Amino acid sequence: MNSGILIVISGFSGAGKGTLVNRLVTEYDNYALSISMTTRKPRVGEVNGKSYFFVTHEEFEHEIKQDGLLEYASYCDNYYGTPKFYVEEQLKAGKDVILEIEVQGALQIKEKYPDALLLFVTPPSAKVLKERLESRGTETKDVIDKRMRTACKEAEVMKRYDFIVVNDDLDKCVKDTHEMIRAAHYASNRSDDFIQFLKEDLLKLS
Ligand code: 5GP
Repeated sequence: MNSGILIVISGFSGAGKGTLVNRLVTEYDNYALSISMTTRKPRVGEVNGKSYFFVTHEEFEHEIKQDGLLEYASYCDNYYGTPKFYVEEQLKAGKDVILEIEVQGALQIKEKYPDALLLFVTPPSAKVLKERLESRGTETKDVIDKRMRTACKEAEVMKRYDFIVVNDDLDKCVKDTHEMIRAAHYASNRSDDFIQFLKEDLLKLS
């Protein structure tokens, strides 16, 4: 009952995952956020060690060889991966650890950790998605087109996620996501220790 849940949050680029995850971490104290490693160049305002660990291709490949990553994937010509150490430490400490990762990595996590909770965040429509990508003002038209095409492919695996989170009203989205995670703590497959305790307790008294 007391160990943390590994939570994977994926969604289309521009769905508002980053904002959602930041709000969860700021507003509730049960979450720890994993910081990924990437070969992508920092965007304006991004800080090394906070937004991501920004590394070279060689450094990333070294990390793969050292078995230091829980999962990794190539996305839009760059590597992204989850460093293992922090996630394992925080789960043991009872924190719900959030990985904000794309779909290939999410499916790797589900294979390795079947009890992980997979959430997929989406805007209410493709039009809203495109508007959000354009209003960021950080990407070129080519990159936006590529991310829209990637979204079409990602939609194919939405069914593999446990819950779909529609990010229309952000406040509601934050609250709903927190409730989904809270409910997941009571799932029977995550209550092995409690069920075992109760079985033994019942035997003693019967
Ligand atoms: P961005 O370049 O916009 O920061 O991220 C691009 C995509 O990479 C997003 O969908 C983001 O969720 C995903 N991503 C970020 N970190 C990781 C990671 O550690 N592993 C995987 N598989 N995807 C990641």
